[in-house]
Amino acid sequence: MAKIIYTHTDEAPLLATYSFLPVVEAYAAKAGVEIETRDISVAARILAAFGLADDALAELGELAKKPEANIIKLPNISASIPQLKAAVKELQEQGFAVPDYPDAPATPEEQEIRAKFDKVKGSAVNPVLREGNSDRRAPASVKNYAKTHPHTNKPFAAGSKTNVATMGAHDFASNEESVTLASDDTLSIVLETAAGQSVVLKEGLKVLAGEIIDATKMDAASLQSFLANALAEAKAQDVLFSVHLKATMMKVSDPIIFGHVVKAYFSDVFAQYGEQLAAAGLSANDGLGAILSGLDALENGAEIKAAFEAALAAGPRLSYVNSDKGITNLHVPSDVIVDASMPALVRNGGKLWGADGGEDDTLAVIPDSSYAGVYQAVIDDVKANGPLDPATIGTVPNVGLMAQAAEEYGSHDKTFEIAEAGTVRVVGSNGDVLIEHDVEAGDIWRACQTKDIPVQDWVKLAVTRARASQTPAIFWLNESRAHDAELIKKVNAYLPEHDTEGLEIQILSPDLATRYSLERMRKGEDTISVTGNVLRDYNTDLFPILELGTSAKMLSVVPLIAGGGLFETGAGGSAPKHVQQLVEENYLRWDSLGEFFALVPSLEKYAEQSGKAGAQVLADTLDRATGTFLNEDRSPGRKLGTTDNRGSHFYLALYWAEELAAQTEDPALAEAFKPLAESLRANEAKIAEELIAVQGSPADIGGYYYPDAEKTAAVMRPSAAFNEALASF
Ligand code: NAP
Ligand code: MG
Repeated sequence: MAKIIYTHTDEAPLLATYSFLPVVEAYAAKAGVEIETRDISVAARILAAFGLADDALAELGELAKKPEANIIKLPNISASIPQLKAAVKELQEQGFAVPDYPDAPATPEEQEIRAKFDKVKGSAVNPVLREGNSDRRAPASVKNYAKTHPHTNKPFAAGSKTNVATMGAHDFASNEESVTLASDDTLSIVLETAAGQSVVLKEGLKVLAGEIIDATKMDAASLQSFLANALAEAKAQDVLFSVHLKATMMKVSDPIIFGHVVKAYFSDVFAQYGEQLAAAGLSANDGLGAILSGLDALENGAEIKAAFEAALAAGPRLSYVNSDKGITNLHVPSDVIVDASMPALVRNGGKLWGADGGEDDTLAVIPDSSYAGVYQAVIDDVKANGPLDPATIGTVPNVGLMAQAAEEYGSHDKTFEIAEAGTVRVVGSNGDVLIEHDVEAGDIWRACQTKDIPVQDWVKLAVTRARASQTPAIFWLNESRAHDAELIKKVNAYLPEHDTEGLEIQILSPDLATRYSLERMRKGEDTISVTGNVLRDYNTDLFPILELGTSAKMLSVVPLIAGGGLFETGAGGSAPKHVQQLVEENYLRWDSLGEFFALVPSLEKYAEQSGKAGAQVLADTLDRATGTFLNEDRSPGRKLGTTDNRGSHFYLALYWAEELAAQTEDPALAEAFKPLAESLRANEAKIAEELIAVQGSPADIGGYYYPDAEKTAAVMRPSAAFNEALASF
């Protein structure tokens, strides 16, 4: 039996679901479309880990491998440890028998508990569900809206000193080694220390024939001298110093790199007090903010604090995340995330904010050179040719390799901060050494896997999209990088399996691909970026932010390799700030366009899976209703007194009902929707007023990670007139 699974997740998208899903369910029921929900929120996953709820994520992970899969996946929290602990506390307060998170598991029992939590931590959902590659693009209606309502991309001032600084040598990009395996095997990763000891870093790493394995290291000493130079350069040029990493995705490597930056900036302070800070458990990897707030507990805390302040005054000026609150770029490792921060910098004429809240040019430090050149290429282009004009520029959609955890760099279980000098080897089960690196203590070594079937599927998806949209497709691969060189061999082997007659398909290094795509973009031409997993993430923020002003309005489809569909909603996250605003003043500024866009192809897929023509009619009418929604400007505003998320759902419901009533493909469905369309239209003013009347005072949803269903429904569905129209339908 075909069905659509709509996921309950976290934060703003979960709140939006309380308002939007009842509309979807009511409309779908009339066309015989089955919709079920599954809870994959971090709270539900904690409950499942301890046997207190069904393991919905595992169920959906299995479903994703079957042709009948049809899953709408809203953004979810990738939980950090503090978030995990907060969720546990909340669940315990609600009476659930969830154990505390063991920071330092000592007993076997605690280790078992910790292992269960580890499966919930971080980006634990997407790798399970992403049994396919990624197709992300701005729907034509959104692109057209952006052209007629262009946001501002500011020009760079003449003589702008903003630039990217990157290592270019001794980093992950340049030390990479890569091999493609001839047969299935089980690998291990071993550190042979200079002292002659053999330390197993990882065992039982299963690999398949045709799989690409690569490994690389970032040389800690080179990183340190690079950072010292970058600091001196920022000081000499009198620009703001800023560092841009991805500590949320590269969860192991990037906090360590961030720690090096903190130690480099405050090198004198760490020279004098470093041992004392370490003894007090204050780590540079957690950021300046955590160190400063831990100083109060130290006897000479005031003295150390003064040393930090003196260093700030003497060093290059830092960029600030929030100058009002004194939060610098070095305060929190996950505050400045490269994929969002660099496009924002470009939009803002190359300027970031300094201590006094004023704007200034910056030296944007992106230590590893794998993808830093993309941002320098954009900066060079905008400096030379002026800002990109959203009213006229073309679009750069993305086809991204990500299936079966392809190219999950720097996270999870294959990244290590090396404890002792020696040699790290990736070894086959027969003892053959596949890859080896000489390492020093402190080097960051990482390995990563990319299976062959996902690569084949990715090449096919690129050709399919190029054909369907009649758009050139560029593989962003750098032949002088080891991993990319292996991938290029596969691309060249698999492309001839497809009909590429008349299509423009090229392989260009990321730097050249950026320049080529921008050049075409300025002529109003579109260019598909076909990329690996990291650039998938980066490009689907970079280009949408420049083209549309946001990445939230993207269509994000994952055609599953087994034939089903996973429909992600937008390219953004779960917008925690929006929940704060709802709780404080009962206003939700979350934009559900991503959900609307995901629902269209999901309904189309359902029509194909079930043979029910009504599902296709629902899809076509929703598509048109979304167009009207955009033209009528019904997305939520940011401030009280305007249409918020709930009001936007009402307008979508109205336009969708009117489209359904007006269509002629399915007369019975049209008849069914006529009274609803009329009553929603007749009550428009009343409903809009009821939805605005509740705004302005605090809202109680009875929890953050596991809000109370009744209370949340009451907050998210406050219009009696709207509820009644749906109920009597
Ligand atoms: P984020 O949730 O995308 O939020 C950043 C900002 O983007 C928001 O504060 C909001 O700006 C804007 N935004 C994003 N989606 C929006 C929407 N639909 N409507 C309106 N504005 C929207 O990024 P984050 O704060 O880095 O991440 C938050 C959480 O989401 C993290 O736990 C992260 O791991 C997770 N995440 C999940 C996914 C996924 O599941 N696919 C993807 C990315 C991140 P304003 O505040 O200015 O309105
Ligand atoms: Mg991103």
